[in-house]
Amino acid sequence: MAKKKFKAESKRLLDLMVNSIYTHKEIFLREIISNASDAIDKLSYIALTDNNVGLDKDDFKIEIKVDKKHGIITVSDNGIGMSADEMENNLGTIASSGSFRFKQEHTDLDDVDIIGQFGVGFYSAFMVADTITVVSRKYGEEAAHIWQSSGADGYTIDECEREAPGTDVIMKLKADTEDEKYSDYMDLYTIRGLVAKYSDYIRYPIVMDVEKNRKVEGSDDENPEYETYIDTETLNSMIPIWQRPKNEVTDDEYNAFYQDKFYDYTQPVTHLSVSVEGAVTYKALLFIPGKAPYDFYTKDYESGLQLYSSGVMIMENCSDLLSDHFRFVKGVVDSQDLSLNISREMLQHDRQLKVIANNLEKKIKTELKKLMDNEPEKYEQFWNAFGLQIKYGVVSEYGKNKDALADLLMFSSSASDKHTSLEQYVSRMKEEQTSIYYASADSVAKAARLPQTEKLLEKGFEILYLTDEVDEFVIQMLMDYKEHDFKNISTDDLGLDTEEEKLEAEKKSEENKELLEFVKEALGDKVKSVRLSDKLGSHPVCLVADGYLSFEMEKYFAQIQPDNAPKADRVLELNADHAIFGKLKAAMESDPDKAGKYAELLYCQGLLIADLPLEDPTAYTDLVCDLL
Ligand code: ADP
Repeated sequence: MAKKKFKAESKRLLDLMVNSIYTHKEIFLREIISNASDAIDKLSYIALTDNNVGLDKDDFKIEIKVDKKHGIITVSDNGIGMSADEMENNLGTIASSGSFRFKQEHTDLDDVDIIGQFGVGFYSAFMVADTITVVSRKYGEEAAHIWQSSGADGYTIDECEREAPGTDVIMKLKADTEDEKYSDYMDLYTIRGLVAKYSDYIRYPIVMDVEKNRKVEGSDDENPEYETYIDTETLNSMIPIWQRPKNEVTDDEYNAFYQDKFYDYTQPVTHLSVSVEGAVTYKALLFIPGKAPYDFYTKDYESGLQLYSSGVMIMENCSDLLSDHFRFVKGVVDSQDLSLNISREMLQHDRQLKVIANNLEKKIKTELKKLMDNEPEKYEQFWNAFGLQIKYGVVSEYGKNKDALADLLMFSSSASDKHTSLEQYVSRMKEEQTSIYYASADSVAKAARLPQTEKLLEKGFEILYLTDEVDEFVIQMLMDYKEHDFKNISTDDLGLDTEEEKLEAEKKSEENKELLEFVKEALGDKVKSVRLSDKLGSHPVCLVADGYLSFEMEKYFAQIQPDNAPKADRVLELNADHAIFGKLKAAMESDPDKAGKYAELLYCQGLLIADLPLEDPTAYTDLVCDLL
């Protein structure tokens, strides 16, 4: 038969395909195997009611053959096959392929997207082969046909013979180049790997004849003779674990699947298996890993779930299925409602994916909350691995997700050496307590030693110890939790005093006005103001940040932009009940020069306690020596 030309749009795509620099050429095998599986689906459906098919459920299979000498890979199936017309229509025009139809509905995508991301079914074989021959016999017909094409210049269809219905796709691989070793695709290991990666759960056996060695029976044990024989190996496992009923799968099996599939030596903290029937029908099997991958908090970490369409993997990392704060979740989603040939770009537009993603978001949150409530030790393990990500989730996107995530947060606390949730904190609050108190420092020990903690702890109020840089931003974003506001014990007015105590304090301030003004004058611009403290117990002094910027934030900014980091306004607070206060007062009257030095010393101590750098450490030690 004379050579036929491809239709115009097919030719254009074919050109792109042939010249594709696409690095994932390997997906061609998945595409060809999927077509074979679809064809078997169709014939096995007919076989349900038509005895003439003559094939039993177990007879259906997909066969891979390799002819290394001629550089040929053949994928055969005993499915429904194609008539000459069907070959013409299905293989002669690329426009019949599912993804191209999709493309026509989404004109914002360009051709390269489709090929670059996911190939276009059958045509993706042209990425690795320069000549493709398809021999097919349609079920119910005697004649078979042979379709052949070497790419963009067209194709031929002729009649031929085939013993039984089915299709052979015969791919003559391109010659190796410096960059691309096409011949690798004939390697048993490569093929095994590709089937395991992309087509493991195809419902029909994917078999390959493999040459193996064995000892010749009866040959001498000391000096054995070997012979080669052919073993038919099934390359896929066929039943996905997520398709099996939950109660039939053990935890060990789930864990083994996770460790195997996601290359993690550590067992997952927990798994959840989801089965949804509705607007979008799907099954999902998700895992919370037991430790953060080494690159988790870097740009290199690729988040996402593996996406399957009826047992065929169509995407390895579909990041659209997970929101950023849950990017640590691993797992698979399998839906029969998704079309096979969809590219990454297209997926973003896919309404079905959004439905699944929203659904999973809720399930993950519920699962984590359940873990927190019922298995605190496991939650602690989770928190240590991924707590930071949850905190980032609270502050990112202008706090869009803060309400959903607030319940999952944990902090160190004065009440226990374990982490505590905000809910637990609130449940322990004193009757007269209205605020949630927190102290920031770079370690729990340092926070606990802040002088401002003393009075609160004395009253039996719990204090959260914030030690991550992001913590204060989290608190700022939350604003409150269950109608309790947050108070930074080093900065905020803690409102600890009764009306009576307040009046008393005001009186005291008035009485000491002269001294406070004196200290302010001695310190000049270093402090914004000087006042008597309502927070201190046995300590003489503390520094307090005034305004929206706390000292911890100041330290954070000093790290990331050392040259022009903003500084928090400093307020020096003095403890009027401390002996030092009396000495200071006496000195102001008898020896103002010395009192000025006392003021400087107290300010420096405030800096030290707040873990802020001394402006001039030498001057400070000189001052101490001078006063000694
Ligand atoms: P898609 O699978 O998205 O429809 P393809 O380009 O992969 O696009 O295949 C085009 C069509 O060719 C298929 O829809 C199917 O009708 C037919 N086809 C491909 N491979 C086979 C096969 N092995 N057996 C029967 N029909 C096939």
